[in-house]
Amino acid sequence: MHDLTGRIALVTGAASGIGRAIAEAYAQAGARVVVADIAADKASEAATAIGHGAMAVTMDVTDETQVEEGFARVEHELGAVDILVSNAGVQVISPLVDLPFADWKRMLAIHMDGAFLTSRAAMRQMIASTRGGSIILMGSAHSHVASKFKAPYVAAKHGLLGLARVIAKEGAKDNIRSNVICPGFVRTPLVEKQIPEQARELGISEDDVIRQVMLRDTVDGEFTTLTDIADTAVFLAGFESNALTGQSLVVTHGWHIQ
Ligand code: NAD
Repeated sequence: MHDLTGRIALVTGAASGIGRAIAEAYAQAGARVVVADIAADKASEAATAIGHGAMAVTMDVTDETQVEEGFARVEHELGAVDILVSNAGVQVISPLVDLPFADWKRMLAIHMDGAFLTSRAAMRQMIASTRGGSIILMGSAHSHVASKFKAPYVAAKHGLLGLARVIAKEGAKDNIRSNVICPGFVRTPLVEKQIPEQARELGISEDDVIRQVMLRDTVDGEFTTLTDIADTAVFLAGFESNALTGQSLVVTHGWHIQ
């Protein structure tokens, strides 16, 4: 189940953090990895460091043309995509009443438009290849729970559950599965940036943001790790039957127990 030899795996937002860890794990499992990211230089560096024939593609997931051209290049150079991880994401911390409309739209574009555009492109290749495949959307504990100051993030992450469920239903006849991974807090640049931002909004210390906000409801006071999420992504990519589709896997050290 953990052997991905011969598969083509495209991971968005793979120049950093969780996406990069998943790309590394897929390469270790034998897949040809595509590091797709808006940050061109970092994507190239990551692909070189990952090795195993990894390819970098510059792609802003909110741009239909860039997504279409990126997927076409992958199909031309490597073949049809077998695994998509729609992972690119950002965070904005603001009370809803102060949130500029532009920030709301940018957040929904990256998380929701990006998931739609990349899933559509991947599904088209998976159907044409007749091999089907695995589409993994990067949700969050915030696909299931809400927190203050994260209105567009929570809304978008909840929305990904619906998108994955539709892909599961429409994709089944072509052997396409779709699931959502819902991590707890993982110490990536996205999280490091929001610790001082949350401390400011809440009027508490950075240490209290970690202990009282981020890890308070976990079973062990631990951050979720890159390895926790990469292992889950390898498992889902290698799980070949439609028995496991349309689901969300909550990987949060017990922060949210379904
Ligand atoms: P990160 O900041 O380390 O990496 C995000 C990557 O996405 C960066 O390389 C960035 O260049 C890329 N990106 C941003 N906008 C893009 C765009 N428009 N097109 C293409 N690439 C773009 O963040 P991370 O923590 O690794 O987060 C990855 C995903 O995991 C996000 O969807 C995030 O919401 C989710 N997530 C993170 C955590 C956490 O605690 N870190 C928890 C739950 C969910």
